[in-house]
Amino acid sequence: MAEKYLIKGFVPNSLVDWDGKVSSVIFLPGCNFKCKYCHNKQLVERYDKLENVSFKEIREYLKKNQDFIDGVVITGGEPCLYSWINDLCKEIKALGFEIKLETNGSFPEKLQELLKSKLIDFVAMDIKTSFDNYEKITQSPIDINKIKQSISILKDFGNYEFRITMFPEISKENLIDISSYLKENQANKALFLQQFRAENCLDEQANSVKPYQAEELQALLELIKPDFAKSGLRNL
Ligand code: SF4
Repeated sequence: MAEKYLIKGFVPNSLVDWDGKVSSVIFLPGCNFKCKYCHNKQLVERYDKLENVSFKEIREYLKKNQDFIDGVVITGGEPCLYSWINDLCKEIKALGFEIKLETNGSFPEKLQELLKSKLIDFVAMDIKTSFDNYEKITQSPIDINKIKQSISILKDFGNYEFRITMFPEISKENLIDISSYLKENQANKALFLQQFRAENCLDEQANSVKPYQAEELQALLELIKPDFAKSGLRNL
């Protein structure tokens, strides 16, 4: 029988994908962005070559490990591309698990629908850069209003964090611009800066870009820290 969902990866146990929780991670393929630094090249562009993962097997694993797993992370690619994500979340919720969604924030209607239906407990949204630099980094046409809507939806929801992968084409000025926007709009609960890794990048040229040094990232963090209740560096 054909699979109901298109799942291309499953990590049964992770200690790093949801702060303070043991999680299982489900990967959905494809993305509407082409971020230069994206290291999920296969999942985003060549996923027809990846094996499908059966949700039946995932469900069995989750059922068997209910006492051990705290929650399920749904990531991508971009999970909100799929109309069936609601059904996937319902099935996971029915097993008694909390769900974290990772998204690029370009589908505010879907995000709102999922939150209103109480299918998601926590959202991590990738913010790419300041709004004027978005198309350069994502190499895609962007409707900035949609990104702004998602930010506003998450502010009202309350259980969220924003993350920025600090690709060196994102300058100090870009970071300050977007941080100021988040603060001015009271969407300043949590912002994490993630280190960029120059390997297996979607844009070949990004593989030869020298990442920010740890000290430089620390200095950038110090600039934005006062504006957020929670902040930090990741993937150093
Ligand atoms: S890094 Fe960019 S291209 Fe890669 S999955 Fe995330 S939003 Fe899509």
